[in-house]
Amino acid sequence: MTYQPTGENMKNSNDKFVTEVVENLSKIVGKERVTSNLIDLHSYVRDASPLEAPLPMAVVKPLTTEEVSKILKLANEMKFRVFVRGGGTSAGGGGLAFMENSILIDMTAMNKILEISEANMSVTVQTGVIWSTLNKELAKHGYRVPFWGPESAYGATVGGSLALASMSSQGVTEAGGTYNQVITLEVVLPTGEVIRTGSDSLPNGGRFARVCNGGDYAGIFLGSMGVFGVITEATLKLECLPTAQKCIGVVFKKWKQGIDFVYKILRSKTIPKSLNINPGMRAVKSSYGVEGECAFRIILEEMNEKIADIKEQLIRSYAKELGGFFPDGIDEKVKEWWDGMFFRLVKGEKKYGFAAHACHRIPLQKLPIAVKEAEHYFLEVHRVEERGMHFSVGCYVSEQRPACGFYPFLYYRDEPETRKIALEIWEGWIAHAIKAYGACPYWMGIVWSRNLLPNLRPEYVGFLKRLKRALDPNNVLNPGMLV
Ligand SMILES: Cc1cc2nc3c(=O)[nH]c(=O)nc-3n(C[C@H](O)[C@H](O)[C@H](O)COP(=O)(O)OP(=O)(O)OC[C@H]3O[C@@H](n4cnc5c(N)ncnc54)[C@H](O)[C@@H]3O)c2cc1C
Repeated sequence: MTYQPTGENMKNSNDKFVTEVVENLSKIVGKERVTSNLIDLHSYVRDASPLEAPLPMAVVKPLTTEEVSKILKLANEMKFRVFVRGGGTSAGGGGLAFMENSILIDMTAMNKILEISEANMSVTVQTGVIWSTLNKELAKHGYRVPFWGPESAYGATVGGSLALASMSSQGVTEAGGTYNQVITLEVVLPTGEVIRTGSDSLPNGGRFARVCNGGDYAGIFLGSMGVFGVITEATLKLECLPTAQKCIGVVFKKWKQGIDFVYKILRSKTIPKSLNINPGMRAVKSSYGVEGECAFRIILEEMNEKIADIKEQLIRSYAKELGGFFPDGIDEKVKEWWDGMFFRLVKGEKKYGFAAHACHRIPLQKLPIAVKEAEHYFLEVHRVEERGMHFSVGCYVSEQRPACGFYPFLYYRDEPETRKIALEIWEGWIAHAIKAYGACPYWMGIVWSRNLLPNLRPEYVGFLKRLKRALDPNNVLNPGMLV
């Protein structure tokens, strides 16, 4: 399906215009890093969602911040639109050129790891670097980012993950998602100016503090789908690789016991690295073959075996106090799940087909109702399993708070007819979840945007639009992705 939000001030593309654009882009990055060949353009019309976009006029692969800046200046002069793409693994229509007369900036050639600072316990990267490459390099030095990338770490870039505020189980309970890892950013604004945020806004300040010199301006770029600027460099926190690990699984018959268990952990500050939830009878049965309304996967990762032991004892005692039980072999299953994190979804996709993701945030208290709504919508209203599709839900606790990331997935065979049906069911769910219980997306993309915007408080939408107009007067960058 194609999506065409209305654009203003833009020239209509024709062969002459495309030739001029390509010539000018070539002057900026060199001929070998611009393409308008059909065969190349065709590989940029999908992301990991059921959506499909029109072909861009051209794709350009810059190597430096200066080149990104010149490309945006050119776009403002010549009046064409620019969409940005990282790894293209977005699950909601990101990294695609949704309007005619657009070019795509492919960020993956900007992939240098610029500095690992032991003194600052930080790493500075060009944002086209892929998480798995970064993780491998950091591990050589005994480090990792406290949240070390989404489950798509073998394809997703740091920049795409920051623009989408990506989160998942990898350390999120203790450390929060990608957005919580940011210390400072370098950003090319839609007009081509380059800014540095936080302590790095002072030329001799350094890259050590996020909120200073006037506010948290890294924050406006995180989760904003790249509509306010192209993030070209990021300085992220580091932590030492753990030396002690415990994997614990526990099942509760009743939701109330499980929710009390989370509060007990949070209030006693026995925070695990990851607290993942199998939500609902169906999820528990399929994972462990036992009856229960919820189950938990708890990962402790510490720098000291004794601390890990004490935390494990405490967590097991809280679980027992509240009526939790430990089916045979559950800890081994939890360990297997944790070790296979970056392959989990790919395995699911091999088995069931392509996944339409509908991840969003909810307070812990709303989890039982969200699961009930999702199961009712997919399994009873749309009877997806009878139509050859597969449905699953998952959840994790984030940022040491009673706040969750909730992820309903619809797997479908990626053929045109099935994809069309999956798209309708998936978008219908997003619209329903927003209205039924206030689902808040952390990553958006055009499907979430077009369903969320009419439901947001009008003053907030007005604020987003004013911000966009101020930063991007010609509406050249990622138009329609958010506002
Ligand atoms: C198998 C699989 C597993 C996944 N697991 C997770 C998960 O655990 N958690 C999660 O949150 N998501 C997950 N996703 C979705 C997606 O992979 C992530 O959100 C990922 O962070 C997107 O990164 P990307 O580089 O592919 O971004 P893209 O898809 O290329 O781009 C996403 C958005 O970011 C913008 N953008 C890209 N680079 C920049 C930049 N440098 N500056 C400004 N804007 C930019 C784009 O314009 C677009 O709007 C998964 C997807 C798949 C296929």
